[in-house]
Amino acid sequence: HIYLDNAATTPMAKPVIDAMTTQMAEDFGNASSTHWFGRQAHTVLDDAHQVMANSIHAKPTEIVFTSGATEANNTAITQTAHARAALGKHIITTAIEHPSVLKPLAALEQEGFTVTYLPVDENGVISLADFDAALDDQTILVTIMMGNNEVGSVMPIAAIAERLADHQAWLHVDATQAYGLLEFDVHALGIDLLSVSAHKLNGPKGIGFLYRREGLNFPPFLKGGEQEMKRRAGTENIPAIAGFAAAVKLITPQEKADRQAKYYGLKQQLMQDLAISGVDFKVNGQVALDNLNHVFNIWLPGCSTYAMQTNLDLAGFAVSGGSACTAGSLEPSHVLTAMFGKESPRIGESLRISFGKDTTALDISKLATAIAKISTRLLAKHAG
Ligand code: PLP
Repeated sequence: HIYLDNAATTPMAKPVIDAMTTQMAEDFGNASSTHWFGRQAHTVLDDAHQVMANSIHAKPTEIVFTSGATEANNTAITQTAHARAALGKHIITTAIEHPSVLKPLAALEQEGFTVTYLPVDENGVISLADFDAALDDQTILVTIMMGNNEVGSVMPIAAIAERLADHQAWLHVDATQAYGLLEFDVHALGIDLLSVSAHKLNGPKGIGFLYRREGLNFPPFLKGGEQEMKRRAGTENIPAIAGFAAAVKLITPQEKADRQAKYYGLKQQLMQDLAISGVDFKVNGQVALDNLNHVFNIWLPGCSTYAMQTNLDLAGFAVSGGSACTAGSLEPSHVLTAMFGKESPRIGESLRISFGKDTTALDISKLATAIAKISTRLLAKHAG
């Protein structure tokens, strides 16, 4: 089986498993305990705070470990909206955010907040003119993803942050897909809140962090003990945190650039292989070096997503029809809908292929051959 669904999740790297195993087998202490065992665990926690902070040029005290990006997004949105409601009740986001952003926003709308969903173009990118038109003196929060999980588009975060420099609105960025591939500096950019998840970068599942700029004041989402400097209650998951830190140490700035270049090359190769095999396809979104190159979304006219994905699965290829979160629900992709309109045939006939650090050129040529075979079969069935 060949795994090409790395935007859904990634396999854990060996140093990650080693770090976690050590923590599970030996250093089992509670990081809040003051005895030797607790202090051992606390050292791991402190080191991990530093590793996360370094990776985005923040301070260790600005990092709060969470159970993943879902919790980080829920916290950044719900808690700040409630804390700042007296300043205004308007929030700006995009139409193509992850459900862990859209659902908390929908709940806030029920409570009387107003949310502007910025549209995207056929490349999956918002326009700054739309953003400028939406921003007003009631806006308290702007929540925009750095890069999209279905099509890999990258949003103009720097330009948005610049526009918010003298504005009361806080800027939250869901960097779940982008963090493993793009190098950025949250302070230099002017980002107030940022969400990350470990399992997208060969770390463990169920762990992530919320960066919250020093000075932002809002209550914790999970209430209870005083862990994480009173900002997230619950005994810290030290094995997962140690694994997360090991994963982050692997993605040096050079490694991120290398992966971006490698994935861009794989994308070019796949387009070429498909074309040579005579496959009729169109790319959903843009093929550009500065996109998130691990995600590749294509339209295969006449081949239903479901048929193509299940046939590829039988042939030994794991790809996705869209995001993993909506795959089970047969809901049409809200991302492709926002890009092409709800009548577009692309919505039911597209495939997301996402590369990982271990993906090879051979995997890609095998995949192209399989897609060619299956599409010929599916199209013949239609014709007949
Ligand atoms: N945001 C984006 C853009 C994602 O791709 C994901 C991944 O599923 C999430 C948030 C949620 O991450 P997690 O499942 O780790 O909570």
